[in-house]
Amino acid sequence: SRKLLMIPGPIEFENDVLQSMAIPTPSHVDPDFISVFSNCLELFKDVCQSPSGQAFIVAGTGTLAMDMAAANLIESGDKALVVSTGYFGLRFAEILKRYGADIDLLETEVGDIVSMERIEQQLQAKTYKLLAFTHVDTSTAVLNDAKQIGALGKKHGVLTVLDGVCSVAGEDIKQDEWGIDVVLTASQKAVGVPPGLALLVASQKAMQAFEQRKSPVANYYADWANWLPIMKAYENKQASYFGTPPVNLIIALEKSLKAIVKEGIDKRVERHQRAGKAMRAALKAIGLEVLSKSDDIASNTLSAPYYPSQIDPSAFLQGINQEGIILAGGLLPDLKSKYFRIGHMGSVNKGDLLATIGAIETVLKNSGHQHELGSGTAEILKHF
Ligand code: PMP
Repeated sequence: SRKLLMIPGPIEFENDVLQSMAIPTPSHVDPDFISVFSNCLELFKDVCQSPSGQAFIVAGTGTLAMDMAAANLIESGDKALVVSTGYFGLRFAEILKRYGADIDLLETEVGDIVSMERIEQQLQAKTYKLLAFTHVDTSTAVLNDAKQIGALGKKHGVLTVLDGVCSVAGEDIKQDEWGIDVVLTASQKAVGVPPGLALLVASQKAMQAFEQRKSPVANYYADWANWLPIMKAYENKQASYFGTPPVNLIIALEKSLKAIVKEGIDKRVERHQRAGKAMRAALKAIGLEVLSKSDDIASNTLSAPYYPSQIDPSAFLQGINQEGIILAGGLLPDLKSKYFRIGHMGSVNKGDLLATIGAIETVLKNSGHQHELGSGTAEILKHF
């Protein structure tokens, strides 16, 4: 029977989003589809709160969106600072290096963020072109303070790039107001559409930096010179072609973005915040500790609890599966078998959280973990 997918992406998608894809594929230059694409570009800027930005939506994954930011903004020898809170921060460093960036990496203990003081010291010590950071690192469930990092970037004249794959449409993002130069994401998480879309919004400052490049972009598919005319054409409701858009996914994206904007960004973030708080309280009640060091740096969109010491990770995840829920294992190479991950974003509701914590309680109880049965589920109920 169908199991509940509670991993940090892909997530459970709304039925109407899934159903919207099950149609004969129209032409990518069909006037109705052009209008759908145009709406997506506008709605996505609304979600990022970036009215002055330039949106790009292309076939690909979150990694392509990272690649696109790096390929278009970095020229060989440019200095870039990566503020890493886990697996995806390290990935960004690798991508930037691939385009010849001279990288400095700021890291910290697992579950913590790099302090604003350290970031500022580094920005004072050296002149960087670009600063990349992960808003929510999906490997640690740690949330960076995007507003403060944006302000530091502005103050020091550095382009800031926010990897929002695990945060856009689930955490507070005010791109324009906070001065973030690139917000990037993928479709399969809080945006609520099956995998296959890379999305980003670039500030005017980022677009100017792109236009002032001295060398051509070293990635043909990701080159904004190829995509900008296409995005502009769709914005102006005109037919255009560079690479065939994933038409059915774009149709689903319009459906989901409309629902997100209808719910209201602030309300949606609040709903995700409640889910995060409820899940962390429930885990604490049953004696599980999470990776994030404190509540103010814990993400809304996923939780990452350590296993109790006597638990066998693969038996645990299999037991959860038999309870009808799918959870994810750890992602940090050194801690892979020490913790697991629960996604709670998009359509997630009280019932999903209750079912998930119920399954966790059951499996832990059967494995000899001591806790009062129902103490986790009670926390979920209290928060809703
Ligand atoms: N960054 C973050 C924060 C992510 O969570 C992910 C995916 N888990 C990625 C980047 C890469 O996205 P994708 O798997 O879609 O390439």
